[in-house]
Amino acid sequence: MDVLQLDVSGRPQAWITTREAAVIYASDGVAWTLGDPCQVLRGGWQRITGRQSRIEVHSIIAVRGAVPSRAWRQAPALTNAKLFVRDRFICAYCGHRCLPEDLTREHIHPTSRGGQDTWMNCITACRPCNGRKGSRLPEEARMSLLYLPYVPSLHEDMILRGRRILADQMEFLLASVPRSSRLHG
Ligand SMILES: [Zn+2]
Repeated sequence: MDVLQLDVSGRPQAWITTREAAVIYASDGVAWTLGDPCQVLRGGWQRITGRQSRIEVHSIIAVRGAVPSRAWRQAPALTNAKLFVRDRFICAYCGHRCLPEDLTREHIHPTSRGGQDTWMNCITACRPCNGRKGSRLPEEARMSLLYLPYVPSLHEDMILRGRRILADQMEFLLASVPRSSRLHG
């Protein structure tokens, strides 16, 4: 299970392990939490009280400290794994749903012709479609896009990056994802 780490204003920062979360709890770094405790970690025995220390880790924690504004403004980093989730593992040209190993990052405007490696110029395509299109523009190849690219928001990026997202974490993140996102599907 991963814990969703927020800054104190509620903006998503990272997925962290329960062990990493426990370190933040132990150093009194947790400002507030959401949801019920989802895991209890046990530490050492306290000599004075004779009790074992115990940390209840919540699935969503907000950490104390300054709010880094830079990360908020930047577009999320583009990776194949996140691109395929954004596009729901569906080839933008033939519409087939594929396994990740059969998919590619397709540059709509080919990089060999000045196209950029960005969220807005990249789309998911199966290997045959990517090969067929080659270094042509969609209109030159007479291959139209079945859906359009977009830049994920920070909340959406957290969903794209998540490995096993718990229901309450998904509910929190989706609440801030625009209705136009494919993740609402
Ligand atoms: Zn295809």
